[in-house]
Amino acid sequence: MLKGLLGNGDSDMQIGIVGLGLIGGSLGLDLRALGHRVIGVSQRPSTCEQAIARGAVDQASPDPRLLANTDVVFLCTPLGMMETVAQQLCPHLHPETILTDVGSVKAPIVASLSLLWTNFVGGHPMSGTAEQGINAALKGLFVGNAYVLTPTSETPVAAVDTVTALARALGSRVYHCTPEVHDRAVAWISHLPVMVSSSLIAACSHEADGAVLEMAQKLASSGFRDTSRVGGGNPELGVMMARYNRDALLAALYQYRDRLDQVITQIEQQDWGSLETHLQATQQQRSCFQFQPQ
Ligand code: NAP
Repeated sequence: MLKGLLGNGDSDMQIGIVGLGLIGGSLGLDLRALGHRVIGVSQRPSTCEQAIARGAVDQASPDPRLLANTDVVFLCTPLGMMETVAQQLCPHLHPETILTDVGSVKAPIVASLSLLWTNFVGGHPMSGTAEQGINAALKGLFVGNAYVLTPTSETPVAAVDTVTALARALGSRVYHCTPEVHDRAVAWISHLPVMVSSSLIAACSHEADGAVLEMAQKLASSGFRDTSRVGGGNPELGVMMARYNRDALLAALYQYRDRLDQVITQIEQQDWGSLETHLQATQQQRSCFQFQPQ
């Protein structure tokens, strides 16, 4: 039966993971290494078999009844599947089980999953790679990175403490904030950059003069590599960000467009003093961002 959680990262919990992909598989590898028993549920039997073979889970199957006696369950499916999967899962869980998710957008997920399960804590481990699926799972993926938890006034404190302890045991820096603050913050530092970077690639790729485009492609080095990286990532993830974090992303995009218009005006008017002041300010402001390790 359930262990009666102490919120101290006990090392012999029964932990369920639903969705054995990059994040679910990586969680499984580390949670097993910490001494927990990990039970996986994924859509495809072949993924369950691969997860067992990779050592990411002790046991796995597509059947959610497997998670009946778990202390904590991590929902690690794509964002669009979270609610449906939770609806199928919750009838099989013990009432004391803590449910948490790893979705990159929090407000819509927290709103729907809190209605389905009282002992629910929204979460977002801010770790990842450009790869997907169980074969992309990595040991130590969460070490040194932020892990945001988004409890509401209704979230049971003991559940927050337990998920906090687990995230710390994975080596993450844990932050707590509301789902709305999370979504607005990640709109700035994750979702806006994808849209800006993809627009940069598109604008450059549509250069009308073929000789100029060919030369630009040959000359591209570290500046273009850094600024184009996130725009060249997984299209599905980009659409998910825009779809589920639409309001916060649009607010960030409008403010970004205003800034770009200001820069255009400064250059059109040859207002080099204002442009320099702007660039001096951004040089200072960049140092306020606490970049996570690669
Ligand atoms: P992923 O590698 O594609 O893994 C998702 C897994 O979910 C798939 O392997 C799939 O396995 C399984 N799945 C899909 N539908 C399912 C269902 N109905 N029932 C059970 N399992 C199902 O994706 P990911 O990158 O790990 O992302 C998962 C979640 O983590 C997303 O919500 C995302 O927002 C969040 N996240 C991602 C990152 C990142 O950088 N990738 C970072 C932080 C958070 P099958 O083979 O069984 O279909």
